[in-house]
Amino acid sequence: MQLQAEVLRRDGRRIAFVPTMGFFHEGHLSLMRIGRREADVLVVSIFVNPAQFGPEEDFDTYPRSFEKDLELSRREGVDLAFTPDKPQLYPDGYQTYVNLENLPNHLCGLSRPVFFTGVATVVAKLFNIVRPHIAVFGEKDYQQLLVIRRMVQDLDFDIEIIGAPIVREPDGLAMSSRNNYLTAQQRPAALSLYKSLNRARALVESGIHDSVRILKEVERIILAYPDTEIDYLALCDLKSLEDVKNIDRPVLMALAVKVGSTRLIDNMVLDPKC
Ligand code: AMP
Repeated sequence: MQLQAEVLRRDGRRIAFVPTMGFFHEGHLSLMRIGRREADVLVVSIFVNPAQFGPEEDFDTYPRSFEKDLELSRREGVDLAFTPDKPQLYPDGYQTYVNLENLPNHLCGLSRPVFFTGVATVVAKLFNIVRPHIAVFGEKDYQQLLVIRRMVQDLDFDIEIIGAPIVREPDGLAMSSRNNYLTAQQRPAALSLYKSLNRARALVESGIHDSVRILKEVERIILAYPDTEIDYLALCDLKSLEDVKNIDRPVLMALAVKVGSTRLIDNMVLDPKC
C-alpha cells in the first residue's frame, strides 16, 4: 500500500482515504462518494481494530461481511481496498500508541477508556501507510472526528480532514453496523435517540435554553421505552466538548444509549438562533 501510494503521489495523483471497520451501509458509502468527488484515487481500508475495543466489548462479534464490502467498494468506484490483518498492523512487540489529553475525557471516552487511543493510533498508522491528501470521517462519530482533527493538527499530518453528515434510515435511526444487533422489538427503543434529539432541537428553537431542562426531557423520552439504559446525555461545546449550561450559541447534543446490550450513539447540532 505504501509503495502504491508513493507511485501515485509521484504521478501527481490526489489520494482520498476512507478508513472503516467494514460491514458497509449507506453511511460508509456516502463517505466514499465524497472521497471520490474530492480526489483522483479513492482508497478505503477495512480493519476491525482490536486496539479500540475494551475487554468486555464486542470485538469478536462485531459484524463482518468482507466479500460484500469489496463488491460495494467496487460499485462505488474505490480504486484500492486496503485490508490488513492484525499481525500486519500490530506485530509482536508493538508498543507505540497515540494519546490525546483532553478530548477523550468526555462523552464516549468516559465509558470506553481505551477507545480513542485505539482510534488515534490506528488512524495515525493508516495515514502513514495510505499517505492520503484528504480523509473523510462521519459526523455520526462526532467526538472521533474532533480527535482526528486534533491529532492531525498536533502531529503535523499534511492531510485535509473532511466531515460527512450523518446518514439515517428512513425512520431516522442513524445508520450503524451495530444496528444489525437490534431485534425488531428493540427498533422503537432504538428510535428514541433520534426522537429525543428532535425534541431537544424543538425546545431550543422555541427559546428554552436551559440545558438541565432539555436533558431531563430527553431522558424522559428515552426511558419511556423498555430495555433502554442511558450511558450519557450531553449538551456540549462544538470544539471542546465541555458541558454547556445555557445554550447561547450552537451546541452539540450528543447521547449514547444501550438498547438491550447494543450501545447506540447519535448527535445533532442545536442552534438557538434557528
Ligand atoms: P466504522 O466502520 O463504524 O468505524 O465507520 C467508518 C466511518 O464511517 C467513520 O468515519 C464513521 O463516522 C462513518 N459512519 C458510520 N456511520 C455513519 C453514518 N450513519 N453516517 C455518516 N457516516 C457514518
